[in-house]
Amino acid sequence: MSCVFCDIATGSSPAQVVLDEPDVVGFLDVRPVFKGHVLLAPRAHVATLLDVSADLMPVLMGAAQRVAGAVVEGLGAQGSFVAMNNVVSQSVPHLHVHVVPRTKGDGLRGFFWPRTRYADDAEAAQYAARLRSALAQP
Ligand code: AMP
Repeated sequence: MSCVFCDIATGSSPAQVVLDEPDVVGFLDVRPVFKGHVLLAPRAHVATLLDVSADLMPVLMGAAQRVAGAVVEGLGAQGSFVAMNNVVSQSVPHLHVHVVPRTKGDGLRGFFWPRTRYADDAEAAQYAARLRSALAQP
């Protein structure tokens, strides 16, 4: 099965590579939110965050932290937006972390999604309890 990010990881598809490490490759998003927008992908094919091994997780997040520093140090951004889509809104089914350079007044308004409100504290507490219960599962 062909995968564009696997091809970038092996060098068989072109990309502007910014980070070339044994387990992670970082490259410019071809359609950046802002110039310098980087995608970080595990070299091995991993579909979503839920598929990342415990060993790979700190490697991937460590790389994201370093790239978030590089957009500040290297591009003069004030900060960054770091995120990933998992299944929903994920257009490339090979996990990738977006690192988007951010600067105040850059025009990106809040997040990309609309916000809602909990009906009341009881509803918020119920959501929190459901999540605590799921997190408590082995
Ligand atoms: P997502 O929608 O979160 O899955 O993000 C996928 C991202 O991959 C999009 O921002 C695309 O612009 C980017 N993209 C798709 N193909 C390529 C490619 N060949 N090289 C670099 N970026 C790509």
